[in-house]
Amino acid sequence: MSADLRGVRGFFQRLFAERTQQEIEQGLTPSLKDIPPSVPRGDTPGTISSEEVDRRWDVLDVDASIRHQLLDAMTREQMNSYSKNIENFIGTVKLPIGSAGPLRVRGLFANGDYYVPLATSEAALVASYGRGAQAITKAGGCTAATIWEGVTRAPVFVFNSLVEIGKFMAWASEHADMFKDIAASTTRHGRLIRTCFNVEGNHIYLIFEFVTGDASGQNMVTIATDAVCRFILDQTPVQPAYWFVEGNHSGDKKASYMSFQNVRGKRVTAEVTLTPEILKGYLKTSASRMVDLYQVGVVGGVMSGNIGLQGHYANAMAALFIACGQDAACVAESAVGVTRMERTDGDCLYASVTLPNLIVGTVGGGTGLPSQSACLDILKLSGPGNASALAEVCAALVLAGELSISAAMSSHGFTSAHQSLARGPVKKKS
Ligand code: NAP
Repeated sequence: MSADLRGVRGFFQRLFAERTQQEIEQGLTPSLKDIPPSVPRGDTPGTISSEEVDRRWDVLDVDASIRHQLLDAMTREQMNSYSKNIENFIGTVKLPIGSAGPLRVRGLFANGDYYVPLATSEAALVASYGRGAQAITKAGGCTAATIWEGVTRAPVFVFNSLVEIGKFMAWASEHADMFKDIAASTTRHGRLIRTCFNVEGNHIYLIFEFVTGDASGQNMVTIATDAVCRFILDQTPVQPAYWFVEGNHSGDKKASYMSFQNVRGKRVTAEVTLTPEILKGYLKTSASRMVDLYQVGVVGGVMSGNIGLQGHYANAMAALFIACGQDAACVAESAVGVTRMERTDGDCLYASVTLPNLIVGTVGGGTGLPSQSACLDILKLSGPGNASALAEVCAALVLAGELSISAAMSSHGFTSAHQSLARGPVKKKS
């Protein structure tokens, strides 16, 4: 990463206008002076005690009104429902939720009209998804399909030499079925379906791919992988010098080049064709304007070095994930994919989205928390049997967002929509 020298000069000028060099140096030097008390951690695992929560607030030393904002009567009453999802609990944060829909999805697993709960503080977001959903629904819905699934964990074993790696691989390749049995002993719903190897010098990464039922599965695959690794250590004829349960080769919580080669979570694709009437009536644009914008976006995306090709998948996902108790950090890998738009006969627009790494679940994780399970209930997708449907609704929502943002850009309404929804009616300068 390089910095413009003139920019650097300006930065230091601004810095030294306010503080001396000595003050800055003092502020940057590590210090053990007056370390404040640690946040109390006294809860026994699986419970949250009122007394411990109050002790934490005492340490924070803030006004009672601030405490009340985060720890109102209902939060206090429900606090134990958070016990498996948070440490050092002090309360809950409120975020507004909007509803976008109906969004008609004609999917392999999701089939119906969905009112999608979106938690966000970004004005214009819900309005935009609502508009895209309306256009899709007026077209009879989008077709959606979950076409592949799997969640990986990639432990790494470090040996002394390539020869040792060879001996290890020969042994491991004979024991692939045992790995499946060991994994199965840790979970009723998870299943190890594939084991791959990646050798780099005297390091070997084992890539374990699981299906995880209706859970997003990250804990499940970690626990199962750990058990398999311990079996390996116990039985392998050649011991590694050291090992780790994850060698940063699974794509967990990051966009990666593996996105399009493997699957992480659910691989989902969704498509819709919009007529000129829908494009004009609901999106204030036309197929040719949308495709013009799409084409410059392809070039812009390539020049930017983006992984995949899309407008703003993260917007839909972050808002849906937060509302529905998904791990919001998984937006990092989930918001990778490809959007395509083409003009078809009769000035229609064909649009599709493909998401290879949608990490979602309808059991486990944060899906059972009070507000989050209520949001899944709005979708009628809480509990077992619904994870693939949730993935398809998510893809349909992403498609709605791609259509709506492209429509806003192509008709030059993007700025005014944000300006009026976030800042109030636009006033003309006299
Ligand atoms: P989890 O809540 O840890 O486990 C899911 C639980 O639901 C399991 O006990 C499973 O039982 C049970 N279950 C009941 N019915 C099920 C069904 N139909 N399908 C699947 N499971 C069913 O959730 P998780 O999905 O494994 O992990 C998600 C959490 O992991 C998120 O909160 C995420 O933030 C966190 N996370 C963990 C890591 C990590 O490396 N550990 C990394 C990133 C995120 P069985 O186990 O008996 O099947």
